[in-house]
Amino acid sequence: MDKKVRVRFAPSPTGGLHLGGVRTVLFNYLFAKKHGGDFILRIEDTDQSRFVPGAEEYIFNTLAWCGLIPDESPVHGGPYAPYRQSERKATYKQYAEQLVQTGHAYYAFDTPEELEQMRVQYKTEENPSPQYNHALRMKMRNSLTLSADEVAALLAAGTPHVVRIKMPLDETVTFTDMIRGEVSFHTSQVDDKVLLKADGMPTYHLAVVVDDYLMKISHAFRGEEWLPSAPVHILLWKYLGWSADMPQWAHLPLILKPDGNGKLSKRDGDRLGFPVFAMDWTDPKSGEKTIGFKERGFLPEAFVNLLALLGWNDGTDQEIFTIDELIRAFSMDRVHKGGAKFNYEKALWYNQEWIKRAAPEQLADQVSETLAAAGVQGFVTDAGSASAGVDRELLLRVIQLVKERCTLLADFVPQAAFFFATPSEFDTASIQPKWNDTKNMFFIELAKAYESSVVWEATDLEKTLKEIAAAQDLKPGELMLPLRIMLVGGKFGPGVFDIAEIIGKEATIERIKKVLSILEHN
Ligand code: GLU
Repeated sequence: MDKKVRVRFAPSPTGGLHLGGVRTVLFNYLFAKKHGGDFILRIEDTDQSRFVPGAEEYIFNTLAWCGLIPDESPVHGGPYAPYRQSERKATYKQYAEQLVQTGHAYYAFDTPEELEQMRVQYKTEENPSPQYNHALRMKMRNSLTLSADEVAALLAAGTPHVVRIKMPLDETVTFTDMIRGEVSFHTSQVDDKVLLKADGMPTYHLAVVVDDYLMKISHAFRGEEWLPSAPVHILLWKYLGWSADMPQWAHLPLILKPDGNGKLSKRDGDRLGFPVFAMDWTDPKSGEKTIGFKERGFLPEAFVNLLALLGWNDGTDQEIFTIDELIRAFSMDRVHKGGAKFNYEKALWYNQEWIKRAAPEQLADQVSETLAAAGVQGFVTDAGSASAGVDRELLLRVIQLVKERCTLLADFVPQAAFFFATPSEFDTASIQPKWNDTKNMFFIELAKAYESSVVWEATDLEKTLKEIAAAQDLKPGELMLPLRIMLVGGKFGPGVFDIAEIIGKEATIERIKKVLSILEHN
């Protein structure tokens, strides 16, 4: 590669970030890191009518959570600042003017009413939505149809106008896409897109080209939905005289619904009960809240890992990758052309694998925050020190013991809460049907024996239970479920004697007695 690798993620901050957007970030990031390049975050907010408060901050928070930190951005700064297009407004106009001067663009003075009339007047069965293009531009009010004097007078009077690209009538625009190979478009299919709006703001098409040029972007990776815009961008690169500096393109495959029928949308997630956004997003207008992968209980490492494998693999069967392994293995030519079906069960599998493999220390903060949010005694809802009131060693031991059973961080609540606090409810309904005096006697005996035991270790506790059971002619199997419910409240959790060992003598005996008394009063 001859020029320095510089890639960009260029979102328009209009709402929560779809997992496809985060995958675009990831592929940009991996490519930059692999080639010792720069990863730039540029905010494309030129469409003021689509401004959504909080959306930009959300993007920064998502990237921070995923650990995909830009080298240059509106918050990180950099040599090509500002990185927010609304702050670069003055930059774009000269390029629009240049395009008018060189005959590749023109001023259009049509009012919204005139545009509407055009759509009605030229509507036919074959052409249900006529566009402002080579066929119609000569019927409209613009600098191609008006005399030079008229145009000058309109401009001098400050008449609202836009600048439109003049698409050539009969050309084929061809470029090489790193994933798709050679891609061609015929210019007659493309309309005369607006480049500069009446308020002096550029549209996306002009701003993206100007900024990719000024910011020395070497590779532009973006979602497949931008493929139809590529011919406009490529012509702009050419008309502005920058073809030699044009970035290499890659249009990333769509992420599809689980059944493969079309693009995965937020609505599919709502309908099928899984997240599609990276983090929780609350629409500031409607107040509608959309769940994110983070809040659903995904580890960022797992989220990044599963996104990487949506449309890419390294050519082997390996599925679990750390970010460093991804950087080493990633290459754009292994990204698939076809869409990648999203499979939530598989996403859960990734998370489970990551929880299983993580050291308790790595999980401690996230587990503590989860337990705090669930109101578990001893944990406080104060990020960074959620476990301040809890014995660290105990916390790590519990995580080690139960992590194999957890798919999502939220699973740590039922699996771990009873280690820190007496359960608030006991599922005695599951004990009752097979409960009798013999069993009642047995547990009274067991509590007594435990009371006088000197060593408090799982193996001894189990031995004691078995001895008493044998003496009373009871099968240990029948006693395990009641004991489990006594200690944890329900039919879940790791080995029951491990639990007893960890919660200690006092809590074990107290919980046995508590449930015996509930059963007695039922
Ligand atoms: N602003 C566009 C978006 O919202 C960027 C597309 C591109 O990367 O060119 O996705």
